[in-house]
Amino acid sequence: MEKYDIVIIGGGPAGLAAAVAARKAGTKSILILERDRELGGILNQCIHNGFGLHTFQEELTGPEYAARFEAQVLELGIEYRLNTMVMDISREKLITAMNRERGMYQIQAGAIVLAMGCRERSRGALNIPGYRPAGIYSAGTAQRLVNMEGYMPGRKVVILGSGDIGLIMARRMTLEGAEVKVVAELMPYSGGLKRNIVQCLDDYGIPLKLSHTVTDIKGKERVEGITLAAVDERGKPIPGTEEDYECDTLLLSVGLIPENELSGQMGVELNSVTSGPVVNESLETSVDGVFACGNVLHVHDLVDFVSEEAAMAGKNAAHYVKDYVEKCTEKSSGYGKVISIQPTGGVRYTVPSFIRPENMVDQLTIRFRVGSVYKKCYVSVYIGEERIIHKKRPVMAPGEMEEIKLEKSRLIGCRDYETVRIQIEEA
Ligand SMILES: Cc1cc2nc3c(=O)[nH]c(=O)nc-3n(C[C@H](O)[C@H](O)[C@H](O)COP(=O)(O)OP(=O)(O)OC[C@H]3O[C@@H](n4cnc5c(N)ncnc54)[C@H](O)[C@@H]3O)c2cc1C
Repeated sequence: MEKYDIVIIGGGPAGLAAAVAARKAGTKSILILERDRELGGILNQCIHNGFGLHTFQEELTGPEYAARFEAQVLELGIEYRLNTMVMDISREKLITAMNRERGMYQIQAGAIVLAMGCRERSRGALNIPGYRPAGIYSAGTAQRLVNMEGYMPGRKVVILGSGDIGLIMARRMTLEGAEVKVVAELMPYSGGLKRNIVQCLDDYGIPLKLSHTVTDIKGKERVEGITLAAVDERGKPIPGTEEDYECDTLLLSVGLIPENELSGQMGVELNSVTSGPVVNESLETSVDGVFACGNVLHVHDLVDFVSEEAAMAGKNAAHYVKDYVEKCTEKSSGYGKVISIQPTGGVRYTVPSFIRPENMVDQLTIRFRVGSVYKKCYVSVYIGEERIIHKKRPVMAPGEMEEIKLEKSRLIGCRDYETVRIQIEEA
């Protein structure tokens, strides 16, 4: 049986950054397992620029950004296997993988970093009536077809959902010669970054219809058109508002879901809001020695934060492997107290969900999203009745990930099981 100190599942930006950080923290035996034919994950199909502004202070394309991390993986001599699908992980960290050369085989890991990314919500999740004609794609699939495989999915396009992938595909399809008739969004606000609405829709005169949804798809063999209707505050179509659009393609950009089948099967506790694992300050899941980062943990909008988070997971996995024996003893006597982070008043979730102050870094980044659009507001953090952070924000939206930093010095004096509340307050 093969044995590695750290096995990383997924060779996207999260997996690559975790591997580099783990090696720099001293772990020699590291293996990345990637099911695709190359490293880089979803970035390989993101040929637009806008990546790396935080990490490299440069504007790179997705493949360029991924290449910087791939170069470090090669330089550091980190082992990786492509075309290798991980099928199962046990709580004892026994990994079952499969590829053409070896068939099905097992690897024992000392620690595991989950970095499997996310997948797109499909038409099946939407309950749109009509036949199942050709011409309905998730936006990410269309992106892969256009940018990597060299196929055009269609010429007259309607996009449902205004998440970042939908917005970016509106621009890409236009640049490739298609006519994008409209982007429709169920919610009264866009799910994407403000900069993508400006650069991908406004700059090309593509209309964005908020509080609208597709109520019918026409066509039996191939999409021939769709019906769009306005929705009320409960998301129900309003009779009499229907408009017909002639199109041959419908792209769906209706949400991303962390790829958590493996995590669920191995018994990792999942957060019902993010669908990703519940993690502590070290990004360690409820299964000892199994860490998570990137889109498998919670869906990110910027890859720079994926890399930053993954580096922390990789470093902590390296420490876990190094201190294993010591840690087991420590664990039996406990890690000291546990502080839970409670998202409230407009905050939907936080990553991490709980902190062991004795184990945290001096300044820990807490990431979260809000559930609605807030203007001229504050992010407040309370320990009991004491407000320890009160940060002004001109605007907050569900499409943009937020962060605050918690100081170890403020948490170390907390009582066991004390709660830190994060909430949005009006100015
Ligand atoms: C369309 C689109 C546009 C974006 N635009 C921007 C932008 O302009 N700027 C920006 O900063 N960010 C952008 N992002 C976000 C950024 O690309 C992602 O946040 C980032 O790629 C997530 O990294 P990841 O490693 O978590 O996931 P991924 O990149 O998805 O990598 C996960 C990897 O795990 C592998 N994997 C999954 N399951 C298994 C398994 N069982 N066995 C083996 N391997 C497995 C997958 O094949 C994949 O390679 C965009 C994302 C998308 C989708």
